[in-house]
Amino acid sequence: MRGYVQVYTGNGKGKTTAAIGLAVRAAGAGMKTYIGQFIKMGDYSEIKALSRYADWITVEQFGKGRFVEGKPIPEDIDLARIGLQKVRKVLASRAYQIVILEEANVAVKFGLLAVGDLEELITSKPTEVELVITGRFAHHRIIALADLVTEMKAIKHYYHKGVESRVGIES
Ligand code: ATP
Ligand code: MG
Repeated sequence: MRGYVQVYTGNGKGKTTAAIGLAVRAAGAGMKTYIGQFIKMGDYSEIKALSRYADWITVEQFGKGRFVEGKPIPEDIDLARIGLQKVRKVLASRAYQIVILEEANVAVKFGLLAVGDLEELITSKPTEVELVITGRFAHHRIIALADLVTEMKAIKHYYHKGVESRVGIES
């Protein structure tokens, strides 16, 4: 089956949960998914849940678990580059039919990855691998290369009422 390039971006809720939903659906079809999380580090509820799907879904984190503000420190960049190298290997191995790059758009936005790095992953991926890139601020060059782009647009978000991330709902 031919694989395409999907992007979930925008400021509304649902990017990460859509990507995880896809991985769970694919597991139901016996397909294997690799999820590389950039920026993030932490024992989120989805990581705990996905550990029950270990035969089909592998998750690795390449972040410091804090929001990168302003100029990234070398450690953030080193971690992102380790992630990039790993993702290159994972793609080339063809061991996973779906590869999800969580928050990779944000990693580009904050200079942890170069947009060219992501472009190269897209253009060099094996034809049969489905590549999914999530995160706000998708670069126009990534949007141009993608086959499917969905913008989660916040019409309302309770964050603006002061509702912080809730365990089991956002984290
Ligand atoms: P989900 O993980 O629920 O699918 P998402 O991946 O689309 O959501 P992110 O952009 O990764 O959302 O957002 C991470 C965190 O940022 C959320 O936990 C929330 O607290 C906060 N947030 C989400 N949307 C907004 C918004 N429109 N404005 C400000 N903060 C937001
Ligand atoms: Mg997210």
